Amino acid sequence: MASVTSVFPQLERLLPRISKPIQYVGGELGAVVKDWDAVTVRWALSYPDAYEVGLPNQGVQILYEVLNEQPDVLAERTYAVWPDLEKLMREEGVPQFTVDAHRPVTAFDLFGVSFSTELGYTNLLTMLDLAGIPLDASARDDRHPIVIAGGHAAFNPEPIADFIDAAVLGDGEEAVLEITAIVRAWKAEGEPGGRDELLLRLARTESVYVPRFYDVDYLPDGRIQRIVPNRADVPFRVHKRTTMDLDAWPYPKRPLVPLAETVHERYAVEIFRGCTRGCRFCQAGMITRPVRERSITTVGQMVKEGLEYSGFHEVGLLSLSSADHSEIGDMCSGLAQQYEGTNVSLSLPSTRVDAFNVTLAQELSRNGRRTGLTFAPEGGSERIRQVINKMVTEEDLIRTVVTAYSNGWRQVKLYFMCGLPTETDDDVLQIAKLAHEVIKAGRAATGSRDIRCTVSIGGFVPKPHTPFQWASMEEPEVIDRRLKALKEAINSDRSVGKAIGYRYHDGEPSQVEGLLSRGDRRVGAVIRRVWEDGGRFDGWSEHFSYRRWVEAAAAVLPAYGVDLAWYTTREREQVEVLPWDHLDSGLDKDWLWQDWQDAMTGYEQDDCRWTPCFDCGVCPSQDTEIQIGPTGRKLLPLTPVGGLRVPGAASAGAHQHG
Ligand code: SF4
Repeated sequence: MASVTSVFPQLERLLPRISKPIQYVGGELGAVVKDWDAVTVRWALSYPDAYEVGLPNQGVQILYEVLNEQPDVLAERTYAVWPDLEKLMREEGVPQFTVDAHRPVTAFDLFGVSFSTELGYTNLLTMLDLAGIPLDASARDDRHPIVIAGGHAAFNPEPIADFIDAAVLGDGEEAVLEITAIVRAWKAEGEPGGRDELLLRLARTESVYVPRFYDVDYLPDGRIQRIVPNRADVPFRVHKRTTMDLDAWPYPKRPLVPLAETVHERYAVEIFRGCTRGCRFCQAGMITRPVRERSITTVGQMVKEGLEYSGFHEVGLLSLSSADHSEIGDMCSGLAQQYEGTNVSLSLPSTRVDAFNVTLAQELSRNGRRTGLTFAPEGGSERIRQVINKMVTEEDLIRTVVTAYSNGWRQVKLYFMCGLPTETDDDVLQIAKLAHEVIKAGRAATGSRDIRCTVSIGGFVPKPHTPFQWASMEEPEVIDRRLKALKEAINSDRSVGKAIGYRYHDGEPSQVEGLLSRGDRRVGAVIRRVWEDGGRFDGWSEHFSYRRWVEAAAAVLPAYGVDLAWYTTREREQVEVLPWDHLDSGLDKDWLWQDWQDAMTGYEQDDCRWTPCFDCGVCPSQDTEIQIGPTGRKLLPLTPVGGLRVPGAASAGAHQHG
């Protein structure tokens, strides 16, 4: 391939005319620029949102580092550009570029896009179009990159099947290296059979899904009849990837330190993957099983090296439910001790109500700083919490929040969902009662009126590969009515209502997420129409237009005999073929159905970390078992640090984000 030149000279001329130009210039600490001609395989990686959201994305950062460690591979990053720059790029003919070396995305061999939410789909189309890559995968030829989707949304990539060449389910660390090896070998052989042969080789691994190699047949009533391979040697089901030994993949080692402001500025280390708590709405918990813990010693080493490298002042111990790590107590006390007297603070971004305790509170606040605490009871009433399998009692919540207030926190956030299966008005109104009790108990325990809580409400979206994948969504008008009534109920008692913040989104974005989450290939035409109508950055309320989606669905879907409600407010039957049935998350479909039935009776499913296996199917399908400690190992000894000195921190623009 001929060498590729930077588009920066053309881009630079546009920078004075746009907002936040620094986000497009690259050069962050941790960024890597390699000689184009000295490598064999070249990846462009993206999180399809603005730089400020995309840069901190752990998945992209890990793959970027894993790939760049390979001597004959380069990986660069590209993000969605804001509409002001998009307009100028179109006028001036500047293509979608990477921020590392400002190379055009179309020059790369592979374009990997990580989706944690389906609301990034329209941004994918913008990036492809600006890159000069045909939106239709079938119209691409050997000059174009292979477009690969990953992330949680890739567990049902059918709505974007027309626009991607492939999807990878599950953990990416090993998958990207395996894909790289296949591309490397194919190139070394002189690229036999072109793009088609390369895709076939990827599909035959059984862990890369290539939508064009599968045909979807429909029944007269609009439901799917079957999804079958149309090429020899392509598997009937594509399996997810699972990285079993997290200690063998201690990334990020050299985290990216942003130059522009981003949503998170901290050194984030994933302390375990997977979750078996079994919350029935939670796709992340279901599709990332089994539980795999990173050992306390590896976490300690990663934090030490990550902070020294980056200069961050906050350490985020990430996972789906961080307080559930079997050695979380020792981990937090070890880190608190290690960084005592420095300005390094610890945070657990997701903390289960019933796993937070006094010791943890003290360790998290030992250096005097208290990062935000969020607890997620998810449901307002005991009944609805049984339906969703969130086994948290009102007493648990009160005790936990009082622990936080008593240890110096003045503010906590409580997260709930609205629109859950079987939900009534009363289930939602109970949120107000809970919040009132929280404030009263907090005042009683601290003797202070200076405490607050924020009630934050999200709309429930049924997700593939969860027990609620068959559930109907509530009408947006009902959601809006319940949320309005809840606001009134919170404010009905002014003496406590004043101490309660209330944040919610109306029901409309959830309907669109519902369409995209459980959509099939026919939904691709809706996405394209929305994008043609100007749809961009649908995850941002100021850019999202419900009208645009409703109109596009009304224009496109009737030709297929379906409509928006068919995808959202329709409950599915057990026999229905779901658009993602050929994509294997490891979960047994019969088990999911049984758990859905159990939800209706309020049966609570325990966590298999501490009770016997309940046969969800994942461990046998991965030929493994859950991995939890305690290991008995200690975080220490690490080299003591007396006031953390960090090379490059100031010049890299690192700053604290509370
Ligand atoms: S197979 Fe059993 S042990 Fe493994 S995650 Fe499922 S329920 Fe837990």
